[in-house]
Amino acid sequence: MGKKKSSHPKKIILFGATGSIGESTLKIIQHFPDYFQLVGISAHKKSEALLEISERFQVPALALTDKASCESIRSKLTPEKTLYQGENALNDLIEATEADLLVVAIVGARALKPTLKAIELGMDIALANKELLVLGGAFVTRAISQAKVRLLPIDSEHNAIFQCLQGYERKDLKSIVLTASGGACRDLPLDQLSTVSPEQAQQHPNWSMGAKITVDSATMANKGLELIEARWLFDLRSDQLKVVVHPESLVHSFVEWIDGSVLAQLSPPSMTFAIQHCLFYPEKQPSPKPSIDFSQSFSLNFHTPDLKRYPCLELAYHALENEPRGGAIYNAANEIAVQRFLKGAIRFTDIPHLIERALAETRASQINDLESLIQLDQETRSRTAEITPRKIR
Ligand code: NDP
Ligand code: MG
Repeated sequence: MGKKKSSHPKKIILFGATGSIGESTLKIIQHFPDYFQLVGISAHKKSEALLEISERFQVPALALTDKASCESIRSKLTPEKTLYQGENALNDLIEATEADLLVVAIVGARALKPTLKAIELGMDIALANKELLVLGGAFVTRAISQAKVRLLPIDSEHNAIFQCLQGYERKDLKSIVLTASGGACRDLPLDQLSTVSPEQAQQHPNWSMGAKITVDSATMANKGLELIEARWLFDLRSDQLKVVVHPESLVHSFVEWIDGSVLAQLSPPSMTFAIQHCLFYPEKQPSPKPSIDFSQSFSLNFHTPDLKRYPCLELAYHALENEPRGGAIYNAANEIAVQRFLKGAIRFTDIPHLIERALAETRASQINDLESLIQLDQETRSRTAEITPRKIR
């Protein structure tokens, strides 16, 4: 382990400690105990897992957003631990807990308000959760620049771009190219897509991730969300945003400069590299994991995405033309469509259909403030829950 640079460990709050990104973040924190102190953690329903993490890392503040799940652990909490519960738990945790960095690793857009609160209180943000930025990118980026804190992208493509942009002038940037694995159904004949089961869609070829993002990878709604995420993170126009399929998931993205030079960032397909980068930024420490082994021969492949296979990708460009409304609708419709698909209520190919309908049918409304944005999000969710999928494919 490297030498400790600061006399105080960085205080970290981790939203979504029981999830896939949460688990990888805990591994990094555990590996570097002198550098990081976990001061707050959250989960939705997994109360026992949250309690176990709080004991393992001696975390004083816990938040469980599903109130009904609190019962089983309340009597087991020692007096020095505080449990925040229910709808407001994340906000309460942020307001009561002093921290240097908030890692946002919950799924869905619910962390938007507490993340804005953390920014206002001066915390840096390490963001895995793309939905939050797709919904509220305009508000988050404004709050970040007002509070003069850092917004560090954990999402591997954006982390790659963030790294490739270091040291150059943004006026010389031509475009960025997000790489996409192609997801679980990339080699399936097109006429079989409508019969893909939730289990099939969750078999990602390269990455081990939560259920929602794995389905999003199979439809490429994940890449669509990432295009919108990139638009806000790096302040880009939609004609500067490109996607290429890269089945090996070793190149995490490219940055193209006006002089014809293209930079890429590579690391093995594990989120711990991007998480470690964000936790230590701007410093670096040796990774506990081996990087790419150049003593073995391997090849890298790239090809343009087939929009017939991935209609969600094209829909994301439509959403981008209509920001900030488009992102809000795209995200909310996709979240509901994926929930319906995972419950077996709609087919895999209905997911883009529902997003398309939501984009076309949601009534035009002005987005003047956060409340009107959240209202649009709610309206889109209710509407998408009601849309009847097409009968014939
Ligand atoms: P998981 O499904 O593995 O974990 C989700 C976490 O969020 C859990 O801690 C869960 O708690 C909590 N949670 C679920 N629902 C709610 C809710 N309604 N309110 C508050 N908390 C909730 O997700 P991932 O770790 O895969 O993904 C997290 C985020 O990171 C997503 O936005 C995803 O797009 C993004 N991301 C993930 C990557 C990955 O490799 N996994 C890569 C890049 C980005 P509980 O366990 O109690 O249900
Ligand atoms: Mg990604």
